[in-house]
Amino acid sequence: MKIEIATLFPEMCEAVLGESIVGRARKAGKIEVNCRQIREYTQDKHRRVDDTPYGGGMGMVMQCEPIYNCYKAVCEDLGTKPHTIYMSPKGKVLDQKRVVELSKMDNILIICGHYEGVDQRVIDKIVDEEISIGDYVLTGGELPAMVLADAVARMCPGVLSDDVCFTDESIYSGLLEYPQYTRPEVWEEMPVPPVLLTGHHANISKWRHEQSLEITAERRPDLLEQYLIDNPPPPPKKKRRK
Ligand code: SAM
Repeated sequence: MKIEIATLFPEMCEAVLGESIVGRARKAGKIEVNCRQIREYTQDKHRRVDDTPYGGGMGMVMQCEPIYNCYKAVCEDLGTKPHTIYMSPKGKVLDQKRVVELSKMDNILIICGHYEGVDQRVIDKIVDEEISIGDYVLTGGELPAMVLADAVARMCPGVLSDDVCFTDESIYSGLLEYPQYTRPEVWEEMPVPPVLLTGHHANISKWRHEQSLEITAERRPDLLEQYLIDNPPPPPKKKRRK
């Protein structure tokens, strides 16, 4: 998959997406990420990309033309129209289901707004969907774009070492994950739960599943309700007549 990012701060995006698991996946050719400087696509001799809002009000608004030119360049380079996303607090809040759907696309273009946002006309012309990362407002779309790109990238084949890395995890599995422990066996007088030291895989799985159910019931009863609809408990075994 290829993720294109249109931003006024490509260095910020490269700094995040050039590191760790996503950075390694890019180097190994498992995914492609390309960050484009929107300023490169303005005709303005001072490289301006924003102006004051019609109707008055605070702040500046990003202009249509540089974003549209950037979009056209992406289309030309890809030879197709990418699925185009504008990161916005007005968008639908991102969840794992949408992340998985997006990870199956060949190309996505993520547009990062700044200042007061983006002229509505270019959104109407090129954007397929608006995505929010939560009900709060950030100064720019770069951090939301990083959240989206990271979440999508780790769902792409070969980015994580094994599918179990995500199928077993919070939310994807339908539950919140069980608690994790590592060495030392006792830390600050707190021992690791004994079952984890037994090497008995069935008992460990059972304990982990019970912990997942417990923590999900406590913190996310909404998730548990859906999980029990999707995974109804097996009916009790009939007693054999003697
Ligand atoms: N004036 C806009 C409003 O009230 O909806 C907010 C603009 S915000 C200060 C600047 C940019 O940050 C937005 O254009 C968007 O790209 C990004 N942004 C801020 N909060 C976001 C969120 N929760 N999710 C996704 N993008 C966000």
